[in-house]
Amino acid sequence: MFSIMQRNMGWIEVICGSMFSGKSEELIRRLRRAMIARQKVAIFKPRIDTRYSSDHIVSHSELKIPSKMVKDAWDILEQSLEAQVVGIDEAQFFSRDLVLICQKLANMGKRVIVAGLDQDYRGEPFDPIPQLLAVAEYITKTHAICVICGNPANYTQRKTADQARVVVGAADIYEARCRNCFEPPEDIKTEIKLAGKRRRGNKERLK
Ligand code: ADP
Ligand code: ZN
Repeated sequence: MFSIMQRNMGWIEVICGSMFSGKSEELIRRLRRAMIARQKVAIFKPRIDTRYSSDHIVSHSELKIPSKMVKDAWDILEQSLEAQVVGIDEAQFFSRDLVLICQKLANMGKRVIVAGLDQDYRGEPFDPIPQLLAVAEYITKTHAICVICGNPANYTQRKTADQARVVVGAADIYEARCRNCFEPPEDIKTEIKLAGKRRRGNKERLK
């Protein structure tokens, strides 16, 4: 994928998918290789995510790499001026400013690698990942294994009734599910039914 390396040019790579799909593993793999190549690497994660460690990115398979915890995307810009490669995990927890910052870093000639959840527990796009996907040069979608049926999983099922968008947790609260086995919250199902009703109503009026 990156066999033709650009010279003197930065770019954005996004790694996205459900929980347990291997985003952090893949991010760590790419960052380790950059370190082996003796490139200057700066690695960040948002302050919100202190599940396993405050000074490392840690995958569910316990791979880890040192990282800095930042309060917002602007901190990333300030702290990566020297870096050639910038890694960011749990990018869904940053505001939309992250898109501006990633663009700025790439325009400065840096390789920016961003990993994050592309959908929330409701199966809805998780800002700012969709916006990042639009401007990224390279996109990798990772899949977990559905815990119900073993198919490739693209969804994160929340096992509790909590309705907040951000509830930090791991296998205690979430599990990977495929499209068949994912159960969206009731109000999402109702939304689809209502949209169908509206459409049928419009058609009736046009008759
Ligand atoms: P992500 O960053 O996407 O949440 P991680 O890179 O942290 O994923 O973890 C991926 C690892 O999670 C896998 O290598 C595997 O060891 C573990 N894992 C646990 N549950 C599952 C699952 N249902 N499907 C795939 N991997 C899983
Ligand atoms: Zn399934």
